[in-house]
Amino acid sequence: MLDLAIIGGGPAGLTAGLYATRGGLKDVVMFEKGMPGGQITQSSEIENYPGVSGEISGMDLMQSWPEQCMKYGLRHEMKEVTRVSLNSDKSFKVFLAGGEEVDAKSVIVCTGSTPRRAGFKGEDEFFGKGVSTCATCDGFFYKDKEVAVLGGGDTALEEALYLSKICSKVYLIHRRDAFRASPATIKRVRESENIELVLNSVVKEVYGNAMGVEGVLVTDKKGNERDIKVPGIFVFVGMNVNNSVLKQGDGSYLCDVNKWGEVVVDLSMRTSVEGLFAAGDIRIEAPKQVVCAAGDGATAAIKAISYVDSLGE
Ligand code: FAD
Ligand code: NAP
Repeated sequence: MLDLAIIGGGPAGLTAGLYATRGGLKDVVMFEKGMPGGQITQSSEIENYPGVSGEISGMDLMQSWPEQCMKYGLRHEMKEVTRVSLNSDKSFKVFLAGGEEVDAKSVIVCTGSTPRRAGFKGEDEFFGKGVSTCATCDGFFYKDKEVAVLGGGDTALEEALYLSKICSKVYLIHRRDAFRASPATIKRVRESENIELVLNSVVKEVYGNAMGVEGVLVTDKKGNERDIKVPGIFVFVGMNVNNSVLKQGDGSYLCDVNKWGEVVVDLSMRTSVEGLFAAGDIRIEAPKQVVCAAGDGATAAIKAISYVDSLGE
């Protein structure tokens, strides 16, 4: 039986692995279905990780993290977890793709989240080169420039407001004329002098060259086409929390999740099930930043060590 199974090898999972092994847990395995590093490895530049100044790609930032963990005894198994369930003795069973099963005294779920893609032409081609899903991360690259934002939910409107303080102008493109964001946020957006609402419109295409995005072609409901010349578009059409490992055979979740499927945790990253922790983007109110995910991972590991110690075996 493992002391600890960590599911996901992004910033949260890797930091959990570092703290758990360095903190004395013996049998710790991090199940990561791909190469460790997480979604930040898709980012061409990261500027806001403390202590790392200068231009650095997400891939470069994460490169040394696995090696640091392995030094203290973390084992990485490149396997996809399909489900976690509770055994009758309160330990956990981790089901792996391919049929293998592993028991663990405690589990930290760090499976992250995945921004939804809107599906327009050029979205994948220019992702990371002008198409972004993170205003906190990439907004500064467009300081005093015009940008577009796509979406009509809380995230799109809040991020449009954030970008309006950095950029000279924000075109907020939404497929309807009514927003699903909260009324207070809508009011602030409508009152913002440098946010232009482009309503009843869909993005047909994002175009550019090898250097990146040059503009966005939008079409309104009447079929009129408009060419908005911007070097960046931020796509906020919803997030998918990667919580499928917590789904049980009967469709319920192993622990409490909120209405968006985010895992409910306390300040110690404890879920509603003893011995089960969640860290990073998957948890409620996650700021969705590398530094925060890493902090969560450390917190969860420290608490997992205490939990395993308390079992006294
Ligand atoms: P993730 O990084 O999502 O890692 C989860 C890991 O779990 C993945 O590696 C995945 O393969 C694995 N996994 C998922 N399901 C399973 C399973 N069933 N079995 C096994 N493995 C599984 N943040 C910043 O602070 N600054 C930035 O500049 C910045 N830029 C960004 C740019 C882009 C393009 C994107 C997409 C995000 C950016 N972010 C940035 C956000 C940041 O990447 C995330 O907040 C952070 O990576 C979350 O870490 P995490 O460990 O919670 O999850
Ligand atoms: P969301 O509420 O699901 O909104 C997604 C938006 O994207 C919607 O306006 C939707 O349009 C649009 N959209 C979806 N697919 C699209 C596509 N293919 N092309 C163009 N537009 C598309 O997602 P979210 O804003 O990320 O929020 C997720 C949840 O978190 C929400 O429940 C939200 O309230 C919550 N949240 C809360 C806060 C807060 O409380 N401060 C902050 C952020 C998020 P339609 O409106 O036409 O469907």
